[in-house]
Amino acid sequence: MTLTTEAPALIETTSLPLELTPELSELRERARRFVDEVLIPREREAERLHGRLPAEAVAEIKREGIAARLNGGLHSPEYGGQGWSRMEWALVEEHFGRSTNGLYWHIPNAYNVWDHASDAQRERYLRPAIAGELKDAYAVTEVDAGSDPSRIASTAQRTGGGYRINGEKWFVTTGDVAKVLIVMANVTDGEDPRPTLFLVESDAPGVEYVDDPGFTHNYPEGHPTIRFTDVEVDDDAVVGGVGAGDDLQRRWFTEERIAIAARGVGAMWRLLDETVEWSCAREQGGSRIYDYQGVSFPLADSAADAAAGRLLTLSVAALADAGADPKIVHHKASMAKLFVSEAAWRCADRCVQAFGGRGYMRSNVAERLLRELRVDRIWEGTSEIQRLIVARGLERRGVERILH
Ligand SMILES: Cc1cc2nc3c(=O)[nH]c(=O)nc-3n(C[C@H](O)[C@H](O)[C@H](O)COP(=O)(O)OP(=O)(O)OC[C@H]3O[C@@H](n4cnc5c(N)ncnc54)[C@H](O)[C@@H]3O)c2cc1C
Repeated sequence: MTLTTEAPALIETTSLPLELTPELSELRERARRFVDEVLIPREREAERLHGRLPAEAVAEIKREGIAARLNGGLHSPEYGGQGWSRMEWALVEEHFGRSTNGLYWHIPNAYNVWDHASDAQRERYLRPAIAGELKDAYAVTEVDAGSDPSRIASTAQRTGGGYRINGEKWFVTTGDVAKVLIVMANVTDGEDPRPTLFLVESDAPGVEYVDDPGFTHNYPEGHPTIRFTDVEVDDDAVVGGVGAGDDLQRRWFTEERIAIAARGVGAMWRLLDETVEWSCAREQGGSRIYDYQGVSFPLADSAADAAAGRLLTLSVAALADAGADPKIVHHKASMAKLFVSEAAWRCADRCVQAFGGRGYMRSNVAERLLRELRVDRIWEGTSEIQRLIVARGLERRGVERILH
């Protein structure tokens, strides 16, 4: 018998619970190239300028993002979007998470709530948003209503041809540059307040920017406080129907939580890439620092977190695509956001330590991500709120349905 010396043919492996079609591979490569060639080279300048790149650089990112067909990912091609599945979207968001300073925000996009808007609303705002001609912002949080939306005090009173809005919104991301604000207010024409989303143009009479505070990260846009005093809107400013606000908000949360988890996985990928490379090259005490288990073991722990978080996140995206029970998807999206946002921040902290003094410099990716990842444990529902949602899921849907 002769032994063959021929090596078995290698197949392209993937840890994903899906077939890696040529289209999906191409999309991932396109997103990877865009992040490596267009976003990452601009990070240090963005950091130096407190997140605000010069207008020409912003215009170039937009242009390149549109040319790479990465704009309006989940939105329908009818309005200029890409019509991605949740899986395609998560794989692209993972790459966006490899960059710092929120530079991917410059790629034209819009909130998913536009899917529930009328054709006229989409024509007016969604199409130009995906083309990079305007921005939207989502205004829900208030001074006394954060984790508990039942405390929302903004009101929308019926008038002859529409509504009169009063209230004040906090932390309105992109509110400083947005043309249209998606504002949650309670319609007060019946016994119970009916939470409703309204479209309010940012230059409408009665819209006032009362504060533009600084935050821990240096991102492209601010999170201002915006006051609405007797702002008049027409009937056609309502999105998705009167009283539909909470339901639309939940759907947005589910999707955004999958995206936060996907970007957190990407952040861990970048952190580990750079930190393994550094610690294999750095010598102290006669050895590479990577040979000290005090350096390499925390990185191994983070690699395990990243791989587990990735599978969890992509499996939630796959469930959403398969049309699974939205309640299960909601619980699982919370689980993914909770796990990944906490793991990614731990990973950034470990990588700062491995870089030593260099890890404390703003030019260092670990330093930037340590600051930037912190908010993922707060926005779109804090970690404590995600735990509440997961705990409720265990009780109401059963342990098996949440775990499997
Ligand atoms: C940078 C940034 C951007 C943001 N962008 C937007 C935006 O674009 N639009 C928008 O509407 N909002 C936005 N937010 C608001 C964000 O969603 C809220 O900050 C978040 O939901 C928490 O609300 P809060 O800050 O009022 O904290 P609180 O709700 O007051 O919570 C304070 C603490 O109490 C804990 N806590 C509260 N309730 C419970 C509970 N039931 N069980 C256990 N613990 C609890 C929380 O976990 C937290 O640790 C943004 C926030 C930040 C920081």
